[in-house]
Amino acid sequence: MKNVELTGLKGVGPAVKAKLEKLNIKTQSDLLFLLPTRYENRTFIKNIGLLVPDEEAQIEGRVVVCNIVYRGRRMMVMQLADETGFLTVRFFTFNKYQAAGLKPNTIVRCFGKTRKISSGVEMIHPSYQIINNNDLKPLPKTLTPVYPTTKGLPQAKLRQIVSLGIQEQLKQTDELLPEVIVKEMGFGTLEEALVKIHNPTPEEFYNADRFAPLKRLVAEELIANQLALRRIKKTTQSNPAQALVRNTLIKALVGRLPFTLTHSQERVVNEIKEDLKKPRPMMRLLQGDVGSGKTVVAALAMSIAADNETQSVLMAPTELLAEQHLDNLRGWFEPLGVKTVLLKSNLTQKEKGLILSDIKNGEASIIVGTHALFQNKVEYKNLSLVIVDEQHRFGVDQRLSLVKKTGDNDSVAHQLIMTATPIPRTLAMTAYGDLDTSVLDELPKGRGQIKTIVIPDDKRSEVVQKITQETNKGRQVYWVCPLIEESDELNYEAAETTFKTLSSELPTKKIGLVHGKLKPNMKTKTMVDFKNNIHEILVATTVIEVGVDVPNATIMVIENSERLGLSQLHQLRGRIGRGEHESLCVLIYKKPLNDIAKQRLNTVRKSVDGFYISEKDLELRGPGELLGTRQKGVIGLKIADISRDAYMLPAINRYCADFDNKYPGLSERLIDRWVGQQIVYRNV
Ligand code: ADP
Ligand code: MG
Repeated sequence: MKNVELTGLKGVGPAVKAKLEKLNIKTQSDLLFLLPTRYENRTFIKNIGLLVPDEEAQIEGRVVVCNIVYRGRRMMVMQLADETGFLTVRFFTFNKYQAAGLKPNTIVRCFGKTRKISSGVEMIHPSYQIINNNDLKPLPKTLTPVYPTTKGLPQAKLRQIVSLGIQEQLKQTDELLPEVIVKEMGFGTLEEALVKIHNPTPEEFYNADRFAPLKRLVAEELIANQLALRRIKKTTQSNPAQALVRNTLIKALVGRLPFTLTHSQERVVNEIKEDLKKPRPMMRLLQGDVGSGKTVVAALAMSIAADNETQSVLMAPTELLAEQHLDNLRGWFEPLGVKTVLLKSNLTQKEKGLILSDIKNGEASIIVGTHALFQNKVEYKNLSLVIVDEQHRFGVDQRLSLVKKTGDNDSVAHQLIMTATPIPRTLAMTAYGDLDTSVLDELPKGRGQIKTIVIPDDKRSEVVQKITQETNKGRQVYWVCPLIEESDELNYEAAETTFKTLSSELPTKKIGLVHGKLKPNMKTKTMVDFKNNIHEILVATTVIEVGVDVPNATIMVIENSERLGLSQLHQLRGRIGRGEHESLCVLIYKKPLNDIAKQRLNTVRKSVDGFYISEKDLELRGPGELLGTRQKGVIGLKIADISRDAYMLPAINRYCADFDNKYPGLSERLIDRWVGQQIVYRNV
């Protein structure tokens, strides 16, 4: 395989090269493995009269009129007509030359997403081209790939570069899967798979049970991933770790809890206790549905570290969660004389200095933080245990860089990874190949029931009435406005609008607003105020999804619920039902609801079991979402989906068991192609 320089391709100069490197593309052949996240079907033109809301479609029409107008903001609005009807097309970003080019009677071909308006549908900033009579553009025969891209590298440009890369490199791309495996799994050649994955015909893509080229590449990625995980495990476990033998502090801590542990919590704590006694690093994954009580298990593990006069860290994906963990851990540990600190990014120099020195001199035993914990400045006196909460937001390389910071050069820290991702137990072992697994498979007793109802948005006033009653009783409410548009701008508006409407409908209620555009410390403040019942109602985007714990909140209202993934709805609902009171989850949808959408919402209504819900989610997903982004496992997978592709894992495990002996040299190259060597070797 020759790794021809990117700049050898037409249209790739230093600036574009830099953008491509951001996408992890360093050579021409890497372009072949930049795989589409989805496709657009531009192979036919739809009649305007047949458009329905929320579909991606291509239309061709004559410009009736095109004007720049002000409707709250500046926009370009164009009317198009074909023989079957009229369509309004709206652009928020445009320049004056564009408007000038769209004179009446110009023929325009548009591709974009429709949305519902009172008089039918309209299209918001589609891509378009002007069709001149003398150069009739033929329609493509294959689907148009959409690639993951980066700021400043337009999709059309990237598409062109990938296409050139394929032309140049396809013949030089080596088959890395051993022939026996390819045969046994019934695959075609790599070359064919690559050609088809970038440009399938609609028939190939939509009619195949499991799109074969994808299957072939997924298998290759999973094999590479397995091989990488095995290598990580082997390398990590060849290092010594501190044996943490004393564990008497657990008792004191359990005695201070306001509840008794569930059986699963006890079982898992014992598994951890046994692991920590050994002079080899623990590498354990703790799975537990939302609300199953993972935090207290983490605390008990940390108490063992403290008991042995060593330090432990608990790493959270957001500052919000880190603050919340700090609150809990302080409450439990400080009365026992164990110092607990929080390391986050927005501290004053002085505060930061104090905390860093407490960590360095060993004064602080329990350390909570976010990614700030990775920074080189942070030196530990004697770190023995690293716990990562909701791990899917951290890369495996980040986790590994932390376990090396024990304070001496020989040992690595024990690792506990906690996740609410519902992956069936048998699968977890293969999906997270480098970890042993523990499962919390029961919820604490004494929780109020959660009732879930599904209602259309024209009954919104009943919901407002219900939340008035609950807040009058002293309870609190989440009101979630999920991402509904592709632009952040519009999302933020959705939450803002709901906030304003609710504030005027309920003038006496104290309402907070939290969304991704707030500064981190404002976000945290709003959440803390909600936790302290200063806000009775919290309007939010999905930023509150992971881990927030406010037991007094008993209502979760989710707008546009038909647009969210089932697992995401389940995660959101997990924010209520955390106290003794009965809780209510209200899934509001926009009419009309198709059959699949109905079934999806009903699944969440009928079940509170995360495993069941994720299986149903899979069943109900259509072929168009074949390449959709879901939980990607420990190492960010590019195309494989652990749940969808689970059926391959037993075979893949078998192939990987003796891979290095049977096929010397190949695993290196597979890992290089799919995972990247830096993850496997850095810091291990
Ligand atoms: P998650 O697993 O989603 O992280 P948390 O650790 O946030 O769950 O726990 C959810 C809530 O349940 C917290 O308020 C916690 O104090 C409480 N909790 C944990 N274990 C028990 C238990 N054994 N009995 C009663 N409540 C518990
Ligand atoms: Mg949690």
